[in-house]
Parts: sequence; structure tokens; C-alpha cells
Amino acid sequence: MTPHCHWFNTYTPNHTPIQLANNQIIYSVGLGSVRFQPVINGKPGCLLEFERVLHVPDLRNNLLSVLYLTRAKSYIVTIQHDQIFFKRNGALLFTAAINSNNAASINGQVVPMTQFSGMVSTCPLDLTLWHRRFAHLNHGDVKKLIQEDLVKGIVVKSMDLPDPICEPCIAGKQHRSNVSKLASHHASGLLDRHWAVMPLKKKSNAFAAFKHFKAYAENQLNLKIKATRDDKGGEYMPREWDQFCNSEGIHRQHTIRAEPHQNGVAERANRTLVEGITTMLNEAHLPATFWWDAVAAFVHVHNRSPTSAVQGKTPFELWHNSKPDVSHFRVFGCTSYVHVKKDLRRQLESHTQKCVFLGYPAHFKGWTFWNPITCKEVISDSAQFDERVFPGNSRTPVDLQVPSPPETSDPIEQVGVVLDLYDPVTSYYLPFIILTFIYFSLTGS
Ligand SMILES: [Zn+2]
Repeated sequence: MTPHCHWFNTYTPNHTPIQLANNQIIYSVGLGSVRFQPVINGKPGCLLEFERVLHVPDLRNNLLSVLYLTRAKSYIVTIQHDQIFFKRNGALLFTAAINSNNAASINGQVVPMTQFSGMVSTCPLDLTLWHRRFAHLNHGDVKKLIQEDLVKGIVVKSMDLPDPICEPCIAGKQHRSNVSKLASHHASGLLDRHWAVMPLKKKSNAFAAFKHFKAYAENQLNLKIKATRDDKGGEYMPREWDQFCNSEGIHRQHTIRAEPHQNGVAERANRTLVEGITTMLNEAHLPATFWWDAVAAFVHVHNRSPTSAVQGKTPFELWHNSKPDVSHFRVFGCTSYVHVKKDLRRQLESHTQKCVFLGYPAHFKGWTFWNPITCKEVISDSAQFDERVFPGNSRTPVDLQVPSPPETSDPIEQVGVVLDLYDPVTSYYLPFIILTFIYFSLTGS
């Protein structure tokens, strides 16, 4: 038994009562295995995996049942002076040292789950799970990721054909099936680019967002933005934007908003994104108010997905010049048990908070969660996930609306697309900007 949820290598929810010495009853919240690196006579022994370990957040110390090891696991345990020896099949597997309080601690250390995070799962590690972890990416592209070795950290234990029915995909995409065909047919263009998204309080903030993006992109890539293209909407037209581009030597091209074929790429990007986040919000049973978290998680995943424009590389690799690691991907909206660090809790307070998984923070290696009790977002690098359970309780299906699709398409290079999503149920009106970087100099396109 342990209070430390971040120790677990495998994990399933579990509710077992445990009676303490003072007759108090506490409960486990999970059950799984913990990896342990023993140290015997100063040298590392064989890596062990303790099975059926209970996760009990209210415990103060870790407890190991010697009776369970001897009766259920065929261990032979001997005590000599201040040392305990744990043998099985004649081999010494680990030892423990007895202290002056007659308590013993095992010699060695736990291997925390983060080193094996790609393998930790409550669902079978198959194509269906990775389809869901990649924001319901089409199955062909999921296979491509694996077969063409486009990313690091995908563990797949079965290449069985995925289930043809995926309810969240149906909820997010089916009623637009004609459009999806159009979108996938002409998938080149904006969809293949590295995306950055920023929420806008008002559309007039688009210029500030562009300046921010320009500084970031140019610094990161050591490249210069030479031209931009936009659709001449009001949000692109403040005079200072023109003056800024003149002084920076950036050529501005405007397409004409009334001409639908010129807007084709932007429309498709919009549609891909809206279908993606509608699917994610429906699977998570979260209301449209979580749209921004879904957008940010979708873009994070999109930048690490295959593209048709550049063979053998993801947008992430083009940007960072290294393969992305996706071992941290989890299904949006799933239940998560977030470890509460020692300095953030009082004695006897739970070591875990049950949250909803919301995505990947931009500048921190970890995950973003929503705590429904405190109604606060939490960022942590230590959590366990149950990808079978979605604690969101929205009963209203999310159906975000976008403008009708263009008749024809033209792969216009477009740097900024200001989009509006409209949720007819809640009447939410959600402006944000997608900024994409086009790799003229990298791809020669
Ligand atoms: Zn799906």
C-alpha cells in the first residue's frame, strides 16, 4: 500500500476498506503495479514489479505485506540482526534495513511511472486508443505514425483493426460527412502547416496576436516572415498593422472575402478544427465553455500528426528539427488522479485530487487538469489516468457551427485566420486566431 499515485506503472480504480491500528477505516482509490529498483550490498539488483499494490491517499507511510509475499508469492523471508532478506526460488531479490524504532525500510528506490508513461494505460494499447489520444485522427494516419516511425513514445500492443464505430466521431463528424470528404480530398494547404492558436477577447486583438507570433516564430526558427496573406477582414485592417509590415519589409497580400474559392484553405482548417473539438467535447461530456482547452489540445496533437505535404515528418519536426515524443498523450476529458505535492497539502490530507484531463500546457512538461470541486485548472507532471471514464457531466451534446464550405478550393498560403465558432445551445460566440507558419525555405513549396 502506498499514498503515492505517481509511483504506479499500471493502475485501475479500486475501492477497498483498510482498517488501521487505531480502528479507523480508510479506503483505497486505485490498484496497480509499482516498479522497484532494489539495492543489494550497494549494487543494483534485478528490477522488480510489485503487483496488486493499493493506492491509499490517506496513508502516511508505505506498507508492504510480508504475509502476502510469503503466502501468495512464495517468498522466503528471514531476519538477521537489523537486516531482512527476501528470497524467492533461492535468489535474493531484495533486502530491508530495520531501524531503532523496529520499523524496516526496503533498500532501493521506486522507479516512478513517468519513465514508463507511454506504457501506463487502463485501456488496451491499440490503434483505437491512439486514435482517441490523437483527438480522433483518422485510422490511416494513426497507422502512418507507427509504420513510418514519425513520432517517439507510441507503444502499441495490438495492430488489430480498430472498431468501425466510434461514437464521439459520429457525434462530431457524421452530419457533415459530405464536407469531410471534401476536406480530406484537398487536405494540402493550411492543414499541413504548423499551427499556433490564440484566443481573442475581441477580433481587434488579432494584430497584437500576430506580432507575438512573429517574434516567437522568427526567434525559434531563425527565419524571417517575408509575406503574409489574409482575407482583408476588418480585424486585419488597422492602419498600424500596415505600418508595421511596411517597416518590417513584410509583403501583405489580401484575398477577397466574398470569393469563396480564395478562402478554401481557411475554411477547411476551420472545419477540421471544429470537427475535432466537437468530437473531443462530446467524448468528454464537457460543455462548449471548455472549447478553448479542446482547441489547444487539438492543435498540440495536430502539430504531432502526419501531413500530406511533407512525407516522413510532422509539423513539429519541421519546426523543432527533432521527432516529437507522444508518450504523454491521453484521451481528452478522461478521469485523472493528480498527485498533490507535499508542500501543497496538510498532514492527513489526500495525496490525490480527482480531475478531468484537459491537455498539454504550452511551456511546461506535464498536463493540464480541471478540478471540478475547486473549479480550478491544475498543472502537474504527476498523474494517473483512467481513459475509460469521462467525469464531465454535460447532458447537452455540443454542436459548434461554422460557415458553409466553399465549392472549390485553392491552396492559398494564409498566415492568419480569424475564426468564429458559434454554439447554438449556449449562444457562445468564440473568436480566436490560427496562425500558421509556411515553410517556403524549409520545404521549397
Ligand atoms: Zn473517433
